[in-house]
Amino acid sequence: MKLANRVKTLTPSATLAITAKAKELKQQGHDVIGLGAGEPDFNTPEFILEAAEKAMRSGMTKYTPSGGILELKSAIADKFKQDNGLDYTNSQIIVTTGAKHALYTLFQVLLNDGDEVIVPSPYWVSYPEQIKLAGGEPVFVKSLEKNEFKITPDELAAAINSKTKAVIINSPSNPTGMMYTKDELEKLGEVCLKHNILIVSDEIYEKLIYTNDEHVSIASLSKELEAQTVVINGVSKSHSMTGWRIGYAAGPERIIKAMTNLASHSTSNPTSIAQYAALAAYEGDENTVNRMKREFSERLDKFYGLINDIPGITCIKPKGAFYLFPNVAKAAEMGGFSSVDEWVTALLEEEKVALVPGSGFGAEKNVRLSYAISIDLLEEAAKRIKRFVLNHQ
Ligand code: PLP
Repeated sequence: MKLANRVKTLTPSATLAITAKAKELKQQGHDVIGLGAGEPDFNTPEFILEAAEKAMRSGMTKYTPSGGILELKSAIADKFKQDNGLDYTNSQIIVTTGAKHALYTLFQVLLNDGDEVIVPSPYWVSYPEQIKLAGGEPVFVKSLEKNEFKITPDELAAAINSKTKAVIINSPSNPTGMMYTKDELEKLGEVCLKHNILIVSDEIYEKLIYTNDEHVSIASLSKELEAQTVVINGVSKSHSMTGWRIGYAAGPERIIKAMTNLASHSTSNPTSIAQYAALAAYEGDENTVNRMKREFSERLDKFYGLINDIPGITCIKPKGAFYLFPNVAKAAEMGGFSSVDEWVTALLEEEKVALVPGSGFGAEKNVRLSYAISIDLLEEAAKRIKRFVLNHQ
């Protein structure tokens, strides 16, 4: 049986692939350290588990409205008001099966064949695939390391043409951990308004920031920008709830309505129990979120120092998320490897350290290292990477 054309170029997620490979080696008895994880290593907070259990036991196990239960939409609206200064009504919010499916559904309702979406690179691996699945064309705008991996308004403007429908802004960013300032967002926003393109603002790492930099939602900068932005967020990273699959989108009612119609024919609704768990997450205090953040911050300081100290490796210090994105091109070249991909494979084989090659994120010279594992393991990983680099000089 021939498969549909649309899946011909579909590649499996690079991040999930490396995690699977590391797991396989572990099962074979190897002492593998996996730095591929895209999820916090903490348990979902206890009060959230209790709320889910209560929901399950009190019969909240049926279909819900496609766009999510009203209580959760209201809690999300409150969150937007409190954290981002944004005023959304419930009809401007859709709860989805993870932020990933919010993005998927958005591109499905937005794009016609040949429509272009600007994707600043390095980018999160699923953006280009989701755009292509909706018939669109990802147009990559390469950000420079010297600009902290952020695109400039001129670079954005240069990529816009009559087919451009949207641009993705992901701040803090996966994989780089970099953040746009308010001023930078204002200038990018001006370009988007001038050319009438939609902004897809992926703010999933909003709660994981380790500097004094303030997270700013581009939608909050003016009424015009709010009307031209869809904000994507969720509880996966903020509340260590990746497996529950609850995310959401907020934006113009017309877009959210179309997304909700599509959801009604695809997922029906996000899992009922998980929605009540997410409701508890937003109704509870942020003590556990802050505890997790402190731990990540300590790990970042430690791991960043160790990695940046390795000859041939340079790294900009990330401000948020839980990844380092060092440039290892020199280390690979010194070791005689023809590409960073090859260097990554050899590292896994020789030292049993699994990390994700930057090629999956559109950055061939870099690698992504997640620090969502214990500090002891991070120290051991850094030791092994250093040994590997020194052995290949
Ligand atoms: N956006 C970015 C930038 C991410 O890194 C991820 C998860 O890795 C997502 C969206 C999807 O998150 P969720 O687990 O809510 O689907």
